[in-house]
Amino acid sequence: MLVKDNNASNKAITLEEKYGAHNYHPLPVVLNKGEGVYVWDVEGKKYYDFLSAYSAVNQGHCHPRIIGSLKDQAERLTLTSRAFYNDQLGEYEKYVTEFFGFDKVLPMNTGAEAVETAIKLCRKYAYEKKNIAQEKAQIIVCENNFHGRTTTIISFSNDETARKNFGPYTPGFIKIPYNDTEALEKAIKENDHIAGFLVEPIQGEAGVFVPSEGYLKKALDICKKNDILFIADEVQTGIARTGRLLATCGNCDCPDKNCSGTPEVKPDILILGKALSGGVYPVSAVLTNNEIMEVIKPGQHGSTFGGNPLASAVAMEALRVVKDENLAENADEMGKLFRKEMNKLVEKSDLVTMVRGKGLLNAIVINESEDSSMAWNICLKLRDNGLLAKPTHGNIIRFAPPLVITKDQLLECVKIIQDTILSMEP
Ligand SMILES: *Cc1c(COP(=O)(O)O)cnc(C)c1O
Repeated sequence: MLVKDNNASNKAITLEEKYGAHNYHPLPVVLNKGEGVYVWDVEGKKYYDFLSAYSAVNQGHCHPRIIGSLKDQAERLTLTSRAFYNDQLGEYEKYVTEFFGFDKVLPMNTGAEAVETAIKLCRKYAYEKKNIAQEKAQIIVCENNFHGRTTTIISFSNDETARKNFGPYTPGFIKIPYNDTEALEKAIKENDHIAGFLVEPIQGEAGVFVPSEGYLKKALDICKKNDILFIADEVQTGIARTGRLLATCGNCDCPDKNCSGTPEVKPDILILGKALSGGVYPVSAVLTNNEIMEVIKPGQHGSTFGGNPLASAVAMEALRVVKDENLAENADEMGKLFRKEMNKLVEKSDLVTMVRGKGLLNAIVINESEDSSMAWNICLKLRDNGLLAKPTHGNIIRFAPPLVITKDQLLECVKIIQDTILSMEP
């Protein structure tokens, strides 16, 4: 789909159409610059970014401190492989484990690789420490999950688009409804070989489904009671996105004044990615305790780029920025304001039926069927009015700006969204 009368944009789109795999369906806008909450297209038009690269750019585009650490490190040493030690990895490992309150980290690059790593850890731990019979281990997952795109991960997806014609699928997964602890208990009772429970604290890709209050804590307690590993995929929800350092409310400087400071839900295995890098360079991580991590011995798992010095330096600075700029607190406050303002729109509009979310991970639901093009058309109009967002699952629009957004900027965006939607009322 071409953009009207814009030569530079059309050229870029035509090149991707002709030479690239068509594995995405991008909104027609061609970007070449970003700073903070803003991005610019090749014609120089400025937009608010309300996707933040699927929450990878929580710290804002091209954050000077993160780019600074990238440049510094890039000029000294970028890659050694893990065949040798480097002077950044150990520093990063100490920093990231203390930051989130875990014993050890296993560094990878992408979110999907970190999920794969967690699955391997969970299975190996089951065979070696819990005497689950060989080849029998099962991991419980939730319906409508999104954990990435590898062959194993799509094996337990129920998104037909992601799965169809990619079989045979990896066995060893049991699917239960999300936000349903009774189903979790039942699945555990019916099967003797459960090794773990893999869950997103909020289902992001599915359309920002926030579970009921207490769901995660109750699920954790069930896992503890049955000696099953609780694995939290916080690739999208982590790093301050939901108004807490982690959506599972781990070891954080909690903006909630009533919070005791003790972790409410501390997963056995925590998976991080996306904003761990500040959107600068792919970094992902699997965090756990000594007992679980030590089942992996030299040669049993790895990645050429995992734990490279460039990634280590970038991730450390990305986390320091989150802390120094109080991004969790800002996400919490701005999120509350955003939902309050969007609820006013829900009152006024027949097109928007609800807003939901936590912190700055929010979505609105459009009063149309999933196969309607209304959400897409709203996103095109939002683009024309200077704000970039993308529909998920047809009739849901996710709104997830960088966490550095100020109150004035947020209110300006609220106005853009309101005016756009009211102008499209039937
Ligand atoms: C994005 C995402 C992944 C996959 O990360 P990639 O870096 O794209 O492989 C995994 N889990 C969740 C919850 C995600 O949002």
